[in-house]
Amino acid sequence: MNPFEIIGHQDVLDTLRGQTSHAFMLLGPHRVGRKAVAHYIAALANCAYGTACGTCPSCLAIARGTHTDVMEVGPKSETSSGKQARRKIIPVKVITGRRDEQNEYDQHVVEWLHIAPYTRRKVVIFDGAEHFNAEAANAMLKTLEEPPHRAMFVFIAEDQQRVLPTIVSRCARIFVPPVREAEMQQALLQLEGNLDPELLEFAAGRPGVLFEREAVRSALQQAREMVQALENGMLDALQASEKLEKSFNPEWHPEALLFAFRHHPLSVRAKADQALSEALDALEQYANPGLVFQVLALKWREALGLH
Ligand SMILES: [Zn+2]
Repeated sequence: MNPFEIIGHQDVLDTLRGQTSHAFMLLGPHRVGRKAVAHYIAALANCAYGTACGTCPSCLAIARGTHTDVMEVGPKSETSSGKQARRKIIPVKVITGRRDEQNEYDQHVVEWLHIAPYTRRKVVIFDGAEHFNAEAANAMLKTLEEPPHRAMFVFIAEDQQRVLPTIVSRCARIFVPPVREAEMQQALLQLEGNLDPELLEFAAGRPGVLFEREAVRSALQQAREMVQALENGMLDALQASEKLEKSFNPEWHPEALLFAFRHHPLSVRAKADQALSEALDALEQYANPGLVFQVLALKWREALGLH
């Protein structure tokens, strides 16, 4: 495995080596390896040999996440005023220091880009370009239209429809697809010496899943127990929902739970999916978690035709 932890994606890397753009948009599913590809772009731009060799000081610093010319910006959860809902946003105050009255961020994109690079290019990676709020997107657009000398941008997004079109149109768009099964198998063998068919099925070509095996396996195990408990009876179902609430990991549990329903008929899965979305919405609105999970267990029993 290379130092940027890229599994598969040889076609993508080949395409990138021929690119001269200063702005990229990496599109593809969550956990498919878009961030690793973004690091590769930053490495190509700053490698001592111009090849993203993986061994020069610049490449090593990028792999370790300590390169002074690479900045990563991601969304954070914010409570929007008026409503109680919590949503992820990239706020304008990380784009420009002039808008960061409370000095919440150590670095601001606009000001940081004006510092001369230590190597060749200053690279900003936006992980979650869907999450710019309107002010941040507009501030960003100005910078993108008149980029400072030697600035480079990498936007990571799942769905370009949800990114401001004027940002999309200024980027070289690169699709990062799911990785082939043979490459996933080989990577898992390298990582732990065994194949785990369930993990591979769940990963569905997303190498990021393989790097978080422990969390994923525990979510899968619990999801299995939950679905089993639903079938055992009301009391078991309520007990399992309580256990689920206590260890709920929003990163993996929702997907693991739907995965546990995968052998059920489509109509059951659709209802289970709907009930889960409602539960997640309720949690975002700060509803009582205990109650949310109880209601979820009841709705899932209903979905399974159990009353
Ligand atoms: Zn290098």
